[in-house]
Amino acid sequence: MPWCEECARYFAPTAMTAEGSCPSCGRVLEAQSSATDEEKTPWHFKLLVVALIAYLGWRIVDLFV
Ligand SMILES: [Zn+2]
Repeated sequence: MPWCEECARYFAPTAMTAEGSCPSCGRVLEAQSSATDEEKTPWHFKLLVVALIAYLGWRIVDLFV
């Protein structure tokens, strides 16, 4: 569970802001499971990112043609 030294309290992941910072002081909190987050990335999310890059690449090419 993320700990904020500034406020001296724990925050549930859902209690934090979208950026993963403290809702009270705005300090970015350390995620303890950051090392395993990479492995947990679902394959369909990676596919979405690849599709997005391909789409943006096509948009850029389309812009100059
Ligand atoms: Zn705080």
